[in-house]
Amino acid sequence: MERTEFSVFQVVPIVKYDWSDDLSMADNNTSAFNYRLVLGTDSLSNHAFGMAVDINPYLNPVINEEGRIDPPGASYVPGRAGTLDDSHPVVREFLNRGWRWGGHFRPKKDYHHFDKPG
Ligand SMILES: [Zn+2]
Repeated sequence: MERTEFSVFQVVPIVKYDWSDDLSMADNNTSAFNYRLVLGTDSLSNHAFGMAVDINPYLNPVINEEGRIDPPGASYVPGRAGTLDDSHPVVREFLNRGWRWGGHFRPKKDYHHFDKPG
């Protein structure tokens, strides 16, 4: 992504955050493998299989159906450096390779999340 000058804030193994997705997201940390469940379910996340990645989560937060934003205090501002949107070349490249983008999820938008259905 050098040509797009897309900034990834930091990529630190999530073990540094004691496997806490909340702490990692609040620190704008990009992560992939994490043996955890899908929030609010008893199903393993695609992160548990290393088939999902979360990019710049503080700049690309989760927006729940009722409008609540995770991580707390974050905001979603398309066009801001490091922020993904539907026309962004990073998003287009993942989609071209058969991955899903959480920005397309409904009702809960998950703008930092990409995964490859198994
Ligand atoms: Zn994710």
